[in-house]
Amino acid sequence: KGPDPDMVSIFERMATVKHKILVLSGKGGVGKSTISAQLSFALAAMDYQVGLLDIDICGPSTPKMLGLEGQGIHQSNLGWSPVYVESNLGVMSIGFMLPEPDEAVVWRGPRKNGLIKQFLKDVYWGELDFLVVDAPPGTSDEHISIVQFLKETGIDGAVIVTTPQQVSLIDVRKEVNFCKKVELPILGVVENMSGLCQPLSDFRFLSLTDAGKQEDMTEWAIMYLKEKAPEVLKLFALTEVFDSSAGGGAKMCRDMGVPFLGKVPLDPQLCKAAEEGRSCFGDGKCQVSAPALMEIVEKL
Ligand code: ADP
Repeated sequence: KGPDPDMVSIFERMATVKHKILVLSGKGGVGKSTISAQLSFALAAMDYQVGLLDIDICGPSTPKMLGLEGQGIHQSNLGWSPVYVESNLGVMSIGFMLPEPDEAVVWRGPRKNGLIKQFLKDVYWGELDFLVVDAPPGTSDEHISIVQFLKETGIDGAVIVTTPQQVSLIDVRKEVNFCKKVELPILGVVENMSGLCQPLSDFRFLSLTDAGKQEDMTEWAIMYLKEKAPEVLKLFALTEVFDSSAGGGAKMCRDMGVPFLGKVPLDPQLCKAAEEGRSCFGDGKCQVSAPALMEIVEKL
């Protein structure tokens, strides 16, 4: 029996890709797509040639998070062309193939695996420094397929995204064990939504009147601070939203012997950037989350 022709095509496509990173999470909604998108923006800003492949077939958020909603894929004689945000940042997602953005993809495992294989075989990325793969949450058929296809062509490893609370960390332990089982190296764990961090100047200050009504005191409070303690307005307030008394991601990493890459706070400006499909780097708005993310990227 000769070599599998699909694997031969995947090998050919992946031969021009230097690094491959898989972004995983135990649960949905922990910020995996946000981290994948901003990681791609960061690498592109560092002048690398970057591809972002979204294999979250049931919930593709990548087109929106990169500001590419409504775009479609083109076919050329070289294969499917990614949709480009900039000349050095291309994106591929099933989201580009759906006739309506609200369309539900109800597919069984084999069909999903078929599409993943097709993405790897047929997308013409050209020369890439990094291919970032945004996987669905959990450990399902898609994960086994992507790992199986990519491992043979060489993969750097996985970045696992979690939030600080135990319900998320329990699932991340499963994700870590999945990686160990399939012999996928773990580049490290990111603790996202790690506290709510805001500059004091963005706060709404409320007070309760004697009648128990809420009164907006923002204008007064900001004026008062500007006059009496302007330095205070330059501070950031960090609120631990989730219970991290069990030690959070860092402790879990120590227990399981995997690298901890760092914490990214909940930052309303980061959420806004993601909703608007923008990079959080460069415009100075994501004052806390952007440097935190950059520190993580530099560790990869
Ligand atoms: P997942 O891919 O894990 O399902 P998403 O990346 O879609 O999660 O994130 C869920 C929502 O939370 C999105 O609206 C996203 O913009 C927001 N979000 C993620 N991380 C942060 C953060 N650190 N600060 C603020 N909002 C965030």
